[in-house]
Amino acid sequence: MTPPAPWTPLPDAPAFPATGFAPLADAIGRLLGTSNDVLLLQGEAVVALEAVAQSLGRPGLRALNIVTSMYGRWFGGWLRRAGAEVQDLVARPGQPISLNAVSEALDAAPFDLVAVVHAESAYGILNPLEEIAALARARGALIVVDAVASVGGHRLEVDGLGLDVAVIGPQKSLGGQAGVSALSISPAAWERVAPADEAPSILSLADLRDGWLATGRLALPGTPSALEFHALAATLARVEQEGLAALQARHADAARAARAGALALTGRAWVSPDRASNLVTAAALPPGITAAAVLAHAPAGHTLSAGVGPGGDGLIRLNHTGPRARKDVVLGDLVALARALGALGHAVDLAAALAAAADA
Ligand SMILES: *Cc1c(COP(=O)(O)O)cnc(C)c1O
Repeated sequence: MTPPAPWTPLPDAPAFPATGFAPLADAIGRLLGTSNDVLLLQGEAVVALEAVAQSLGRPGLRALNIVTSMYGRWFGGWLRRAGAEVQDLVARPGQPISLNAVSEALDAAPFDLVAVVHAESAYGILNPLEEIAALARARGALIVVDAVASVGGHRLEVDGLGLDVAVIGPQKSLGGQAGVSALSISPAAWERVAPADEAPSILSLADLRDGWLATGRLALPGTPSALEFHALAATLARVEQEGLAALQARHADAARAARAGALALTGRAWVSPDRASNLVTAAALPPGITAAAVLAHAPAGHTLSAGVGPGGDGLIRLNHTGPRARKDVVLGDLVALARALGALGHAVDLAAALAAAADA
């Protein structure tokens, strides 16, 4: 007989207590500045976004869907699949949406729902959420926000801005794992949620309302992964220990340093500072130099990456998200970028770039 396998922490993790879910939802509500209901969904944040579209979309729903990366494209696709009438409002590739375009679209036709991504990790940009939310609210439209890449890195006041739905995940600036995501939902949005179906669905918000909110917020429907919820609890505890304001400030500081250093190296900013993400900085590449060439010439050890999607080849991304939101990480990536640009024949002054970053 083989002896029993020794206890190992990952497969043998202790059960997550049924009373533990509600405190996690409450902690997320505090992070978001909301007294709306907070739902926990197993699955990466893309699953939560699909669940929102699937639960709110229906024939007759008119949605203005702002597209500033593939996430917005996908959201529009899920709404259409649910039967909604969707008008995509697409920004110039790699750029934030212009407020004028939003206000013109909202003036041209009535909408029941406006969907937008707050910060984009794909291009390092920040959409004008506060202004878009005000425009949507003034017309009585629900506002749905993908805040996966902004929570923890940017100010995000769900109740202050009147956001009806905000979707987040722990895996970006909160520095956690991608297996559980969360969303807040307002009473007005609940009124529009499709009722539960006979068969349960991971994409049904009504299932979570009926099976969790309405039953005292104990065990979640299905069999929750203890590992993922222990990880979320530890992540939220760590965030509360650092403090939300300190976490946001750490991202803002890293982003300022990255932008100043990248500007010194390339001579050109990708977007204005008030439209730049605090999690990822896009450095605009000099003419004739591609992201692929930079990556091929950058010394090992950096986390530079190309942009994702159309327009992404004109930029290189410096990743200062979560545990990477530190000045030494930013300085390391600036050195790698400088070496690659130098190898490609673009004159760079590394000392000046590092000094600019350090001073920022
Ligand atoms: C990362 C991210 C998501 C979620 O993607 P995952 O595949 O769950 O990591 C959604 N929206 C935005 C804007 C993101 O940056």
